[in-house]
Amino acid sequence: MKLELDIHPLQSWIPHQDKPLIISGPCSAESEEQLVNTAKQLKPLGINILRAGVWKPRTRPNSFEGYGEQALKWLQTAKKEVELPVAIEVATPQHIELALKHDVDILWLGARTTVNPFNVQEIADALKGVDVPVMIKNPINPDLALWIGAIERIYNAGIRKLAVIHRGFSTFQKSKYRNEPTWQIPIELKTILPNMPIIGDPSHIAGRRDLLQEVSQKSLDLNYDGLMIESHIDPDNALSDAKQQVTPDSLRNILGGLQTRISRG
Ligand code: PEP
Ligand code: MN
Repeated sequence: MKLELDIHPLQSWIPHQDKPLIISGPCSAESEEQLVNTAKQLKPLGINILRAGVWKPRTRPNSFEGYGEQALKWLQTAKKEVELPVAIEVATPQHIELALKHDVDILWLGARTTVNPFNVQEIADALKGVDVPVMIKNPINPDLALWIGAIERIYNAGIRKLAVIHRGFSTFQKSKYRNEPTWQIPIELKTILPNMPIIGDPSHIAGRRDLLQEVSQKSLDLNYDGLMIESHIDPDNALSDAKQQVTPDSLRNILGGLQTRISRG
């Protein structure tokens, strides 16, 4: 099966040179100060997009679930300070409405949303007539058809600025990864959708800092178009995903150590 979807290449909707696109920022927006400081330290690294979680889909109740609309205002401030496009996860039509009202540039569907066709369809309906880039994370389970189905629903709503994010697949098996990369799934996705831009998410695959370099490199070796890596000014005290976030300084080292198609010549 090959799907001939007319998708805009990444370069047409995000200003970046001929090198991997880098999306970074905290797992969660925790305060205006945290977001602005992180963004200011990330800017000199040449990142392309600032990310932050505003509504957090936590596995268990009574965990921190994000600051919601208030965090969108912090994101607006950070965006003005560093002049970078900003991206957040949306999971409901109301999230989309609020995100657009607060000048969010790029939206993404999280793994726990992609897994549910009802949920994806509601989001697709809310996106009809809206010109905003949308990135679609793989579903939490290793189901390629479900991932493709979510892409089709968003595409059918008229969105052409699309990308997918490979964040790994949950497993009950003991693994060194938080989410198994199962590389053959994104590889097969690219055979079905050859023009679909693909971003690696080493943070959610690895779940720990010491694996970020290797997972990032593997993604680039597979010709991924970019990487989304979570960063935080004080990772150990982060309100979510503390073990996998890195300081902007460590991110600089990770990025500096990567072999890209260009650096390899
Ligand atoms: C996130 O990006 O912080 C997140 C919640 O990701 P995922 O949907 O991949 O779990
Ligand atoms: Mn996270």
